[in-house]
Amino acid sequence: KMFEDCGFSSQLMGAIAKQGYEKPTPIQCQALPIVLSGRDIIGIAKTGSGKTAAFILPMVVHILDQPELEKDEGPIGVVCAPTRELAHQIYLEAKKFSKSHGIRVSAVYGGMSKLEQFKELKAGCEIVVATPGRLIDLLKMKALTMTRATYLVLDEADRMFDLGFEPQVRSIVGQIRPDRQTLLFSATMPHKVEKLAREILTDPLRVTV
Ligand code: AMP
Repeated sequence: KMFEDCGFSSQLMGAIAKQGYEKPTPIQCQALPIVLSGRDIIGIAKTGSGKTAAFILPMVVHILDQPELEKDEGPIGVVCAPTRELAHQIYLEAKKFSKSHGIRVSAVYGGMSKLEQFKELKAGCEIVVATPGRLIDLLKMKALTMTRATYLVLDEADRMFDLGFEPQVRSIVGQIRPDRQTLLFSATMPHKVEKLAREILTDPLRVTV
């Protein structure tokens, strides 16, 4: 399988080539067709597998597919990650593939100025990459609304639960319209994560690498 088979725009193909990605990794081979078809997915994969691009590339396509890209109504794509470091890595990957399309990416996590993040979110973005606690804080401050969000990614769900973020994750999911597309990635699937997946995903397909 090749990236050409995914029907990506020439701009996106250019960005992929620029990264030196010659062909999809195994998780990308399995996940890209499913996610691009609009289905929910459970991806059992670790860091290093190329899972980030497996959810970022279809997110860019999803955003470009929106009929009316009204500005400043909150993110369309929402990514939750357990740690600042991972959130920052995802942010960098998202920037690579969204810059040339004029898609704005914001990263919000602890250890950075909340006021600066508030201002950035107020200015508008199409993608937000966040740690759960900080995203909840900013939602409470009305820095953003989730009214436009239709593509939700929970990355390293098992680690988010290990770090005690289950209530925050559930609160965030509860603020996003139920007809969204939902992607859950996890290295392992403990009972609590299985239960969450059953509750928040719609007829998901499961891929394992
Ligand atoms: P990830 O598992 O998403 O953290 O990705 C691990 C590393 O693989 C990152 O440095 C990516 O930039 C890189 N990567 C992702 N997809 C590909 C690909 N198709 N070909 C080569 N490298 C890739």
